[in-house]
Amino acid sequence: MAKVKVATAWLDCCSGCHMSFLDLDEALIDLADVMELTATPITDIKEFSSVDIGIIEGSVSNPHDEEVAKDLRANCKILMVLGDCACFGGINSMRNLFTKEEVLRRYYIETESTKNGKIPSSEDIPPLLEQVKPVNQVVKVDCYVPGCPPSSKAIHYALTELLEGRIPVLPSEMMRFD
Ligand code: SF4
Repeated sequence: MAKVKVATAWLDCCSGCHMSFLDLDEALIDLADVMELTATPITDIKEFSSVDIGIIEGSVSNPHDEEVAKDLRANCKILMVLGDCACFGGINSMRNLFTKEEVLRRYYIETESTKNGKIPSSEDIPPLLEQVKPVNQVVKVDCYVPGCPPSSKAIHYALTELLEGRIPVLPSEMMRFD
């Protein structure tokens, strides 16, 4: 039987959700029998091709994040968002209390330890969006695995449900890290 193809992306994030995925340890070997990882930060394949399941970690904080989310959505049948940043904006959305200019000025110029600070500017650095957004404000999302990060147990449950053709709804005991 053909393996289920899976692609993952990380947007504005700390990569902790992908680390929690890798914490599946030996369960990854069993999953590898039925699932093939294509483009992900883990394989370092960067171009999305058509897959069954797309998984996004991280919030949408700049135009590049928006492009990646739309690209993966266009290439997957089911899109799952992983972690509080992707589900709700998470810790990144704390900056939504301030203007973009205030955040950049505070970070690069006004912090007590900064001398001769300067806000970086380069065509290689995508500009911040005015507001940090959860993924579902940019593309349609089919299922949610909250947590910061979600436990590997929760990720395993969600993936197993998807691989068996069901949309996962996490039991409440899997909503916290243990
Ligand atoms: S949800 Fe938590 S662990 Fe996951 S990317 Fe955001 S800050 Fe990191």
